[in-house]
Amino acid sequence: MKVLKFGGSSVATPARIKSVIEIVKPYLAHEKITIVFSAFGGVTDTLIQLSTLALQGNTDYKKQLEQIEKRHLEAVRELVDMQRQSTVIAQVKITINELEDILNGIFLIKERTLRSLDYIMSFGERLSAYIISEGFLSQGVDAEFLDARKVVKTDNNFGYAKIDFTFTNKLIAEHFQQHQQLQIVTGFIGTSPSGETTTIGRSGSDYTAAIFASALNATSLEIWTDVDGMMTADPRKVKKAFTVAEMTYQEAMELSHFGAKVIFPATMQPAMARQIPIWIKNTFNPTFSRIRN
Ligand code: ASP
Ligand code: MG
Repeated sequence: MKVLKFGGSSVATPARIKSVIEIVKPYLAHEKITIVFSAFGGVTDTLIQLSTLALQGNTDYKKQLEQIEKRHLEAVRELVDMQRQSTVIAQVKITINELEDILNGIFLIKERTLRSLDYIMSFGERLSAYIISEGFLSQGVDAEFLDARKVVKTDNNFGYAKIDFTFTNKLIAEHFQQHQQLQIVTGFIGTSPSGETTTIGRSGSDYTAAIFASALNATSLEIWTDVDGMMTADPRKVKKAFTVAEMTYQEAMELSHFGAKVIFPATMQPAMARQIPIWIKNTFNPTFSRIRN
């Protein structure tokens, strides 16, 4: 088993999602994989903005929500077969209506808790992974959408929830025993002990992928992003920055703690515990770095 994760920029447009499906197809011929997806690029930020507008009593949140809806419906039209389109469009609309109800609530009561913000942010990954799973199905891949809230259990520290690894590992193992299809998983989200939606930290989909890799004892974890692996410095600031071909978990943890945005700091922990190598790959360019012992 390999676990792959694609971030927001890799799935920012329907064309990019199509190239992700093409990247993944060759894997399917010879090994089992699981794929974790982030929200479409920029969607999480927009969801936060929407909730801020609603909180401020600004009805512009409705217009922005329409844009979000339009963007996701366009992706459905581009990626999903005619036969399934109306079903998927209906499901996306139901989901957006649910989001609208919550935003209306925030607008009315003028209160937004960390708990409601997590719930609002969860819509990005839920919509993207669902639509992408339908995109795979339309390409003849036997795929299934997995809402990670079913199996990723956390505490109730909303916004930065901590993983209950014992419970989560058990639920992931059970789920995968019962579901043989390619699992298309939502990054970033989980459930609190009382069943509420939580998030595990901004940019946390990398961490979700590492949690699955560890629970499934994967042979490797591939983080697909939009830069050439781990670099010696931020290439926007340091012209001579170059890709590091290989580094230790420890080095990667340090770099990410000191601000390297390429990987979420906590990602290394579950991978390290099981000695699972992490590959950082560029969706737009085939260079990479490897992180291992
Ligand atoms: N969509 C979430 C965020 O923007 C998680 C992620 O992208 O990894 O923070
Ligand atoms: Mg990221």
